[in-house]
Amino acid sequence: SDIEEFKKFSKQMIDYVANYFVTIENRNVLPKVQPGYLTSLIPPKAPIEPEKWETIMEDIEKVIMPGVTHWRHPHFHAFYPTANSFPSLVADILVNALSAPGFSWMSMPVSTELEMIMMNWIADLIGLPEQFKFSANSSGGGVIQGFASDATYFTLLLARARVTENNLCQNILSKLVMYTSDQANSSVIKAALLAGVKLHYVDTDEMFALNGESLEKIIKQDRENGLIPFYLCATLGTTASCAFDNLQKLGPICNKEKIWLHVDAAYAGSSFVCEENRHFMAGVELADSFNFNLHKWMLVNMDCSALWMKDKNEVNNAFNVDPIYLKVSSGTEMPQYRQWQIPLGRRFRSLKIWFTLRLYGQNGIQNHIRNHQYLAREFEKMVLADDRFEICYPVTMGLVCFRMKGSNEINEKLNISISAEGSIYIIPAKLGDKYILRFVITYENTNIEHLTFAWDNIKKHAQLIQT
Ligand code: PLP
Repeated sequence: SDIEEFKKFSKQMIDYVANYFVTIENRNVLPKVQPGYLTSLIPPKAPIEPEKWETIMEDIEKVIMPGVTHWRHPHFHAFYPTANSFPSLVADILVNALSAPGFSWMSMPVSTELEMIMMNWIADLIGLPEQFKFSANSSGGGVIQGFASDATYFTLLLARARVTENNLCQNILSKLVMYTSDQANSSVIKAALLAGVKLHYVDTDEMFALNGESLEKIIKQDRENGLIPFYLCATLGTTASCAFDNLQKLGPICNKEKIWLHVDAAYAGSSFVCEENRHFMAGVELADSFNFNLHKWMLVNMDCSALWMKDKNEVNNAFNVDPIYLKVSSGTEMPQYRQWQIPLGRRFRSLKIWFTLRLYGQNGIQNHIRNHQYLAREFEKMVLADDRFEICYPVTMGLVCFRMKGSNEINEKLNISISAEGSIYIIPAKLGDKYILRFVITYENTNIEHLTFAWDNIKKHAQLIQT
């Protein structure tokens, strides 16, 4: 409404946010509210008359904060990190102010052009092969999707379009089969459901990774049964244990069998900014598409998921809808990014990448990744020093999988006890039949004291459940 009021309250909000960051450790990482807590704090209908900024600001602590799970908290060790950096936050102020859905070059030229340049910057940063980049020598290109789930679903639809040429008669649909492992993220299963195709799990090896042999076997069996294998989603850095599927083994099989190979590196993809981690993606040149979330481990705020595909012509043509109101007379040589995603409108997400990469530099991002890998190994040492506990999977990234020696039940009890107190937040996973606990380094400035705090808390609850 009033520009002076906007200036006053936006500055006040920045101060509030800065203070939140500085004092976050005074808050419990997990909220204490019960389901439905908000209905007693908010009226059932929107106000008739306008309210004042001041009352809204006062309500933040009273109404909103009690229901916040603090993902930026140093004691948040659940799931995988969700990035949060100052450059990203500030960039999004401008993006929100511009509020432009850049679905074509003309609708927001800088959005398309900065996105293309950023996708090439990031491809170089993580050592992706030239074939995935926008360049004169390649037919590849990248696009920013919201989430890894979007990238999987979109590439699955592209692969489906490739084999069916968009002739989705039930006869063909019912024969299509896609593959992944039972360690793949839930989003892969959801993509199969959304696309209406069969999903077959390929057996993993003893390291919970796909390595090729079982893929060949299942393809042969499925072909004999009249099915059409068309898509494999491999994972680099699985959600449960950060296992890496073997692209060197999977790639040649997929290429030979004309199966689209998509790589979901949602979390671990950021780590390839450090050369010493790149052996985990050996064989990536054989993939059709590759995706990782900058909003997980590369310090760019949610949502920001980078997807590269090898053939931009295929993308441009697969779902091309061009009514007269979207036809453009200039910028036609640019990617029409609305064809590279499901919605028409799109956010100007490349600005926060540009701010973040410039303010950290390659060195800053590498230091961030290496520091988290170092801290995970330090936490592993703490676990190994206590003979009541065991490590359940090799520690390579920022994740430590551990458990108390003994039954699944005792570990379930331990998890419940830790969550009920809520001073730290970890989540469980299943590796085979084993119930394990996952400890992830998430906060950018985590230090050894934070780890000691967490480990003391875990040991305290281990003691509690045994008395
Ligand atoms: N893939 C993997 C391996 C993940 O670990 C996750 C989330 O943790 C996802 C996909 C889903 O990511 P998004 O929330 O961006 O869809």
